[in-house]
Amino acid sequence: MRKPRLMTPGPAMVPEDVLLELARPVIHHRSAEAKDVITEVSAGLKEVLQTKNDVMILTASGTGAMEAAAVNTVPPGGKALILNAGHFAARWASICKAFEINAVSLDFEWGQAVDPDRVAEALKANPDTVCVMGTLSETSTGTGHPVEAIGRVVAETPAVFAVDGISGVGAMECRADDWGIDLLCVGSQKALMLPPGLAFISVSPKAWAKIDSFESHSYYFNLKAARSKMKEFDTPYTPAHTLILALRTALRRIKEEGLENVWQRHRRMSEACQAGVQALGLELFSSRPAEGLTAFRIPAGLKDSQIRNKLTERFGIATVGGQGKLKGHIVRIGHMGYTDEIDVIGTIAALEMTLAELGVDIEPGRGVTAAQHVLMGQASAVGQG
Ligand SMILES: *Cc1c(COP(=O)(O)O)cnc(C)c1O
Repeated sequence: MRKPRLMTPGPAMVPEDVLLELARPVIHHRSAEAKDVITEVSAGLKEVLQTKNDVMILTASGTGAMEAAAVNTVPPGGKALILNAGHFAARWASICKAFEINAVSLDFEWGQAVDPDRVAEALKANPDTVCVMGTLSETSTGTGHPVEAIGRVVAETPAVFAVDGISGVGAMECRADDWGIDLLCVGSQKALMLPPGLAFISVSPKAWAKIDSFESHSYYFNLKAARSKMKEFDTPYTPAHTLILALRTALRRIKEEGLENVWQRHRRMSEACQAGVQALGLELFSSRPAEGLTAFRIPAGLKDSQIRNKLTERFGIATVGGQGKLKGHIVRIGHMGYTDEIDVIGTIAALEMTLAELGVDIEPGRGVTAAQHVLMGQASAVGQG
């Protein structure tokens, strides 16, 4: 017998009360009840994204929000600056290409954080940039970028700042308004504790000015259409409102725990996971780890599939390998959303047994002990505070 444990950086585990919402009879999406639900989740999303601006609800995976941000703010031939430090950042460039947006790529080594000073230089060299496209948590490398500092740089220019917060929002501190994020993109299946299918995007007044300055080529992801319907707590087309019902429950959970506490819990999970992995002699991939996942290099002589298959077959624990050029080089453990201390400790324990059985010279218990020390130290500090 194995319990499935989805320790992946999206989709991630969904709590029971959220799952139960999905089993209810389908209501009509233009009913008063549906409107009430959107009214409540609209307020909840503003809180989670830390914005006073409207948050649009799109029926799409997270990439739909990225596409909406790009195609609605930058006209064909307009310029975008891509802060390119991983597989998902590169997706911004692919979206730009599809819509004939002139993408200038500012490249950083994978696993390194974006340097705000270089963003400032690039914006000086490209004063006609309409939109800077960055990432809060680069899931492919497990890196958290200094979005607050980058936001300060972009705010001084005419450009808007679009941030892919798909795996970051809800897993690490992110304040759209205070940090100067004009378009914050989020997906439902990461830290927000839902299945895939919904995307969210906040839009600042600075971004609306760009959006209102031309007719976008988008139809389904047209933010003007979304804005006019959102005024009545509605959506232009039939939304995945079964998921929106479940979102209400997920947002109530976040509200009950308190957003700051949710961030703090993720910080503890990531520090515990990092400590556990490093105590086993494994090397973290990122020099500035994100808080919703931990990426480590595969020990010499092993294949990522050996580690990941054993974790799944023996313990029911799903993890992911590397993407793009990191394929075969790293393993990524997700600890975002509905994840607790025991999930992390259990995963480290399973990793120890897995590595030992694969012939790696490790002492079972070392990783778990290191993780426990982090959790006990910080748990008591929280208790005293
Ligand atoms: C998961 C993820 C995406 C892609 O989201 P989809 O929901 O698969 O479209 C984009 N960016 C980041 C950082 C992600 O983690």
